[in-house]
Amino acid sequence: MDAVLIKRLTEVIGKDLVLVDESVSSYLYDETPNPVRPAASGDVVVVKPGSALEVSKILLLANEFRVPVFPRGGGTGLVGGCIPTRSGIVVSLERMNRINVDRDNLFAEAEAGATLRDLISAAESAGLFFPPHPGDESAQIGGLIACNAGGVRAVKTGVMRNYVRGLEVVLPTGEIIMLGGKLLKNNAGYDLMQLIIGSEGTLGIITKAWIRLAPRPAASATIIIPFDNRRRAFELVPRIFQAGIIPLAIEYFEKSVMDLAAAEIGEKWPCNDGEYQLMIILAEQSEEALLKTCEVLLGLCEGAGSREPMFAESRREQDLILRIRSELYPVLKKTMYDTLDVTLPPASMAGFLDELDKIAGKYGVELPAIGHAGDGNLHVWINVREGWRLEDYEKIKEEVYDKVIELGGVITGEHGIGYVKRRDLQKYADPKVLELMKAIKRIFDPNNILNPDKIFL
Ligand SMILES: Cc1cc2nc3c(=O)[nH]c(=O)nc-3n(C[C@H](O)[C@H](O)[C@H](O)COP(=O)(O)OP(=O)(O)OC[C@H]3O[C@@H](n4cnc5c(N)ncnc54)[C@H](O)[C@@H]3O)c2cc1C
Repeated sequence: MDAVLIKRLTEVIGKDLVLVDESVSSYLYDETPNPVRPAASGDVVVVKPGSALEVSKILLLANEFRVPVFPRGGGTGLVGGCIPTRSGIVVSLERMNRINVDRDNLFAEAEAGATLRDLISAAESAGLFFPPHPGDESAQIGGLIACNAGGVRAVKTGVMRNYVRGLEVVLPTGEIIMLGGKLLKNNAGYDLMQLIIGSEGTLGIITKAWIRLAPRPAASATIIIPFDNRRRAFELVPRIFQAGIIPLAIEYFEKSVMDLAAAEIGEKWPCNDGEYQLMIILAEQSEEALLKTCEVLLGLCEGAGSREPMFAESRREQDLILRIRSELYPVLKKTMYDTLDVTLPPASMAGFLDELDKIAGKYGVELPAIGHAGDGNLHVWINVREGWRLEDYEKIKEEVYDKVIELGGVITGEHGIGYVKRRDLQKYADPKVLELMKAIKRIFDPNNILNPDKIFL
């Protein structure tokens, strides 16, 4: 890195907040599975600004010196999005972590470096609720918005973009802009705020967000519904919606995978029946409403030929189930080559899983999958086995994606493109759409300063 640039950065934000050499090592990776994670350049400087103005000055310097800038949140991304793939400046928002809750407007004003955990607890302290649970709790607000993160509750609550109503953004060219605010309606021209949401750190650095909150649901229950037959499990899902029930989450998984995750933390998966299971989380505004919904759901389970559903009503039982569920990624990561994140029309999921079994059989690999069964988003893990060959990985991925596209799906519903899926986007996106996306990038970032190597080849 240019010594003059480092000196100028130090003048902008102070010596202690500019890291070089060994001290940058924890800023060079994220949670992407190791085999597909891009190599980071060792020649980077990490800066920790404390305001939008400082971020702006950093970007002005980057343009002057023509040096790439890599925005970094909590580093929990799964597609290498924040990794500095070239020599450049990593901008870590970690110091910008203030949150103010406006109870009257039901809004949180959150700086980009506050974590999801911080937001959940700030909302709770104000007697309110942040409805979605869009990622790992150490993910930051800026990263969650940049990835338009989804999560298990998306079926009822929607994803990050359904909660963000205003953004403060520093453009790659250094200008600070405000988009939206504490507003529920806003039709003032093109919606650039929605364009920034999901742009994976390529169109601007998010420094602050105005996020909608909601009242806390008064009653909740978690129900595990076991099946001996996978197709039957998926057939129940549309019946639930048709009966007028919108659960907070409908997750599909296989018991054997949950047993592994439970063992990792010295616990037992509480439902020992049926290999194919749906986990349903209900959240209602009263105990009576919850009871009524449970009754309807039980009737539907009987009709669908499930085994005995397991109800977790106490906070402790519900927390245990979620804790085991959140162990899945670290457990599977040990033998994982890559994690796919496809999304299909929800009713195509059962048929797609049958196709997945065929692909696994053809290549002699394991392709465990868990899914957000209510919204069609399925996480498929490609697991490493003895005799594994890299060509097989490429072929498996291609066959999976070909099938997804044939069924009307997309290659990613949550994790985004980042570095890892650039080739796949190039292959599966409509060329005209890709051309428009690249043109937008050029307008925002004429010098290709911000997060190069991401989304596009
Ligand atoms: C155990 C686990 C569970 C997860 N669960 C989910 C889930 O349920 N749903 C889901 O959608 N994802 C999930 N994820 C993925 C991850 O949590 C999300 O993608 C999250 O949005 C990443 O946020 P981050 O702050 O960690 O971003 P990082 O990993 O630091 O960065 C991700 C991208 O955002 C950009 N970025 C970061 N901050 C900013 C900013 N201030 N301005 C502009 N761009 C920025 C980066 O440049 C990069 O492109 C999970 C990950 C793990 C490890």
